Amino acid sequence: MNKTKIIATVGPSTTAKKVLMDIIANGVDIIRINMSHATHAYCKKIINELNEINQELKLHVPIMLDLAGPEVRVQKIEHDEIELLPDTMIEIYADGRIGNGESISVNHKELIEYVKFNSILKLDDGKITLQVIDKLEDYIRCKVLTGGLLKTGKSVNVPGINLHLPFLSEKDKSDILFAHKNHVDFLALSFVHDGEDILEVTDLLIDQKDDHMSVISKIECESAIEEIDEIIRLSDGVMVARGDLGVEIPLERVPGVTKMVISKCHSAGKLSIIATDLMSSMEYSMEPTRAEVSDVANAVLDGVDAIVLTGETTMGLYPVETVSMMEKIIESTEIDINYYELLDKAMRTEKQDITGALAYSVVECADRLKTRAIVIPTMTGKTVKKISRFRPSCPIIALSPHEDVLKELSMYFGVYAYPMKEVKSFDKLIETARKVMVSKVALKPFDKFIVTGGYPLGETSHTNFMKIEEL
Ligand code: PGA
Ligand code: MN
Repeated sequence: MNKTKIIATVGPSTTAKKVLMDIIANGVDIIRINMSHATHAYCKKIINELNEINQELKLHVPIMLDLAGPEVRVQKIEHDEIELLPDTMIEIYADGRIGNGESISVNHKELIEYVKFNSILKLDDGKITLQVIDKLEDYIRCKVLTGGLLKTGKSVNVPGINLHLPFLSEKDKSDILFAHKNHVDFLALSFVHDGEDILEVTDLLIDQKDDHMSVISKIECESAIEEIDEIIRLSDGVMVARGDLGVEIPLERVPGVTKMVISKCHSAGKLSIIATDLMSSMEYSMEPTRAEVSDVANAVLDGVDAIVLTGETTMGLYPVETVSMMEKIIESTEIDINYYELLDKAMRTEKQDITGALAYSVVECADRLKTRAIVIPTMTGKTVKKISRFRPSCPIIALSPHEDVLKELSMYFGVYAYPMKEVKSFDKLIETARKVMVSKVALKPFDKFIVTGGYPLGETSHTNFMKIEEL
């Protein structure tokens, strides 16, 4: 049972229900849709397929919608691509014109307004670079420094320049409303700059009376690094979006920043997610590179909650093979996680309260006795999140009568979520836990497991019991 979760972004390679089912069967725990590319009709199709799969396979795979956010992109290009040659000139407008060899249009006029003479523009995650050599009323003239094939919809970054884009566009707001109406589980916010950006979104969710959707802030610009503590405090978790981050800050800083963010999330008890290029060579190849295997393993050893596949599962030739390979790397690396170190660190940053003290004892006890699982009946998921933060070396079995809670918990490190009926007595609770253990974990005689939670269920606000069971 793998503890590190796999988030797969869906796209043309994984839209068919059969493939979606295949990637889930091979290890995908969460389905992500990137709103920079998807329409509402497309989202509806995926959400319907996922609901069917969840019902047919009795699963609780949640869905994440990732907002486009304040991102500058190249608009429609004639035949969808042009070749930009080094030392040639290209004009950039923001008037919606169809791009060609002479001029292209971007989706935000602020780019034209705020770039400076000599500013460097990085297109398509930095694969193409341009330099501004002339700033005119409604367009800029740029020289191509590094050329390449530019396609419709590719990203444009201007490192170090604040383009003063509003955090939420009308499209983002309509996407948030769509997410709410379709009961989406996780909302990822692109290009969060500070806490204010997150509050703008949580205010919208409060207006909708949506207390289900979890908010994941994407760390992909310099200002998010400066404001990291406040961003973590206001979010349910963060995603290190290495694609844009590696363009916005010097590439060589990305690994250090990634580790800093993971560590802060762990201390704060928030979700940590790593995205982009984990296995990108598998878009075209059946085998990952040695470096990619190390990259995945490294994230696992750091104890992150989840890792994200993007191009590999949206456009890649081998989505199912990529997922299986990722699952294999996770499985063989999790043996080498330094669980003790993660537990110790969580303990040092834990509040001095009943729930924290008991959660620590449960995990310490589980590791010492090598129990097969920690079983947690829960109404809200609170105890499960706390136990997950202490990173036990055995799986956490979360039981809840609430579908929403099961889906939310599926993102957390080590958690396997199963439905249960509401129970009235403590004995019945333990019996339910026993039954689930027998059916879900291949128990051998003398195997132990721990049952913990807050009793009476749903009536107490803290974790207050632990029972060690033996077969
Ligand atoms: P994106 O985010 O795919 O929405 O750009 C991921 C990243 O920037 O790494
Ligand atoms: Mn991004």
